[in-house]
Amino acid sequence: MAKLKLAIYWAAACGGCDVAVLDVHEKILDIADAADILLWPVATDHKYADVEKMAPGSIDVCLFNGAVRNSENEHIAKMLREKSKVMVAFGSCAVSGGIPALANFKRREDILQRVYMDTPSTVNPEQVLPVTDCPVPEGVLHLPEFFGFVHSLNQVVEVDYYVPGCPPTAERIWEVVQAIATGNLPAAGATVGALDKSLCDECPREKSNKKIKRFYRSHEIIPDPQQCLLEQGLLCMGPVTRGGCGGQCISANMPCRGCYGPLPGVLDQGAKYISSIGAIIDARTPEEVKKILAGIADPAGTFYRFGMSTALLKGANR
Ligand code: SF4
Ligand code: SF4
Repeated sequence: MAKLKLAIYWAAACGGCDVAVLDVHEKILDIADAADILLWPVATDHKYADVEKMAPGSIDVCLFNGAVRNSENEHIAKMLREKSKVMVAFGSCAVSGGIPALANFKRREDILQRVYMDTPSTVNPEQVLPVTDCPVPEGVLHLPEFFGFVHSLNQVVEVDYYVPGCPPTAERIWEVVQAIATGNLPAAGATVGALDKSLCDECPREKSNKKIKRFYRSHEIIPDPQQCLLEQGLLCMGPVTRGGCGGQCISANMPCRGCYGPLPGVLDQGAKYISSIGAIIDARTPEEVKKILAGIADPAGTFYRFGMSTALLKGANR
């Protein structure tokens, strides 16, 4: 069988998805056996110019991680889409914006003001802001344009498959690589490397349909390791999050933050979660409801932690 031609790209993201690929440990040698890597900037020294010269469809599969935050991310996404037979949105940031898309709660100018003027460690008496073209004696220097909205990959190019997770677990990555290598993939548009049922469905913790009178932040209590975290007042996103990660956070006695994204058929993970917690609050009056909900620090940032690019909530920039 001919070796797969593979590209792995890191756009607006922390780099965890790239590290997760390396986390398959010795199986990386099997990946090297099954695939020729044509672009992987974090690990190999291929140049964009090499990819630009390739004919359309030269790359079999592109694993694109990261959101599209600037014009360079957009340019590379379009180039890799053209060169790749199969484009995979790899990890939460590419799938739905991920952590970078929390910036969508702020306007572009407020972000620039904060970063370039107001942070305590910034010294910028001339109030210099980044520009896309800067003439210097040697010519013109170019910087990518910083967009006013953080996009998911499918808001910029057509995506064939989605692999959620922040980052996807090594086991799921290995399964996806095997499925790609053997051509054993579902119809285009599918989410792979995750389950169609919720994390709660695979969670071993005891559930007793207990209602709650207050919410806690993770540092405020040491939860019982056997009992459902949500029923102990911790905001666990398990009811509205796809399973498949193996319950990594809950096995460490921490609530799920929702990185595997919404269940099939759910348009907006945050909105779905709001309706879930509405059902477990033990309150009889609007005042009691208000008091309990006041215990949720940063509700928007918690409920939409990984999905602000694709959420129904539009943020500050659209
Ligand atoms: S809410 Fe969290 S802790 Fe409770 S059953 Fe679901 S995944 Fe497990
Ligand atoms: S428990 Fe939730 S936040 Fe943690 S890895 Fe799994 S899906 Fe992601």
